[in-house]
Amino acid sequence: MQDGIHYYRRMHPKRPNSPSPQRRDNRRPPASPAFDRLIQRPVCPEDDRPLPKIVAKGAVWHPFLFRRQLGDFDPKAQPGDLVEVVNTSGITQGFGLFNPKAEIAVRLLRTGVNQPDDVWWSERMESAVALRRDVLKLDSVTDAYRVIHAEADGLPGLVVDKFGDVLVAECFSLGMYQRAEAILSMLEPICGTRHGVMRPGPNSIDHEGFMAVPTGSEGLPAKSTIQEFGTQFRVDFAGGHKTGFYCDQRDNRKKLAEFCAGKSVLDLCSYTGGFAVQAKKIGHAEDVTGVELDESAAALARDNAKLNKIKLNIVQADAFSYMRDMLRNGKKYDVVVLDPPKLIRSRDEIEDGRRKYYDFNRLAMQLVAPDGILLTCSCSGLLDLAEFSKIVCAAPEFGRRVQVLMKGGAAADHPIATICPESEYLKTMWLRLE
Ligand code: SAH
Repeated sequence: MQDGIHYYRRMHPKRPNSPSPQRRDNRRPPASPAFDRLIQRPVCPEDDRPLPKIVAKGAVWHPFLFRRQLGDFDPKAQPGDLVEVVNTSGITQGFGLFNPKAEIAVRLLRTGVNQPDDVWWSERMESAVALRRDVLKLDSVTDAYRVIHAEADGLPGLVVDKFGDVLVAECFSLGMYQRAEAILSMLEPICGTRHGVMRPGPNSIDHEGFMAVPTGSEGLPAKSTIQEFGTQFRVDFAGGHKTGFYCDQRDNRKKLAEFCAGKSVLDLCSYTGGFAVQAKKIGHAEDVTGVELDESAAALARDNAKLNKIKLNIVQADAFSYMRDMLRNGKKYDVVVLDPPKLIRSRDEIEDGRRKYYDFNRLAMQLVAPDGILLTCSCSGLLDLAEFSKIVCAAPEFGRRVQVLMKGGAAADHPIATICPESEYLKTMWLRLE
């Protein structure tokens, strides 16, 4: 977790084309090309000069254009620029954000001949917010939800979560990071929020060649309290993982609570206690243990228990060691949740990651009491449901009957783009172990 948060002066929402403001604080490092690329810019270029052209060697439809799929780059194209993608005959195919340092060198915003303008950006944002508010009606159950889910909302490289009156943007591409202030300024009036946070995605140095600290609007509180089905959770904007809270498991937390009345519950890799708190608060579990490696996340889980006036046993430990200890002690739980972090982050990690999923699941299953429930999850996009299912089905001890009750995924505010099946990252399996 990172300490502290830097502040930015917000752009005026009505003037997306105004010059970018400089940071107000005096912590700005000496000017360097790497830092200059982090200077904020409006969503669209400020002048009418023709966009730099990038040649695509094949068909242009997927939101990601990898470097190997591209031909010549216009030498004028700068990292983070909006570029025109043309075919080898020079005919326009679409428009995207460019970063020659990234494996995904262009993230496509729009196919066809029309350049994305301010109206296009506003429409994307309004449509994304309308899905959450008007279609899914999320405001009636929570004030924490995903407002923009990258390519599934037509904005590859960008996720934005809303936590009460704070919007948190996590930027997976340099181009989106450079536009984050402008995007937040456009989203604020649509969402009715007051504060914004922008942060790079994990490993932005390796993936995109830039580094940045989480940066928030002036007056941003360090932490905030959100509610989900009436249960309160603290969100730490500076120190939390990803955007600060995992909205994708909202419906699964509620569903799991339905199995918990009067039961003993073990929440493995519990982060700030999402499943654990809901198991007790709305599920009325008898006793609940959460196991989390990260000390500050475990501390926040304890705060969440206090906030909701419930008793939880939160243990700061490695889930593997904890499970082995409990097995040695002969301990069993009626309901077990296993929601590990992304164990496969790149193709090189597939074999190792599969083994870890197997080991995690094998141990967790041995802790499930007879006729108990296991909810097991994988958030590795590189492991599809069929593969995950094979691993999980191979994990029970010989002779134990295991029933798959349901398979599922993330809540609907994390939609899947049909043109980008790898955006189906979260998989869940609900098991009953006799
Ligand atoms: N279920 C949670 C989200 C879990 S995210 C929710 O509903 O909010 C995965 C968590 O696993 C992270 O908090 C990470 O710190 C933790 N983690 C990673 N490795 C771990 C390990 N070996 N043992 C315990 N926790 C671990």
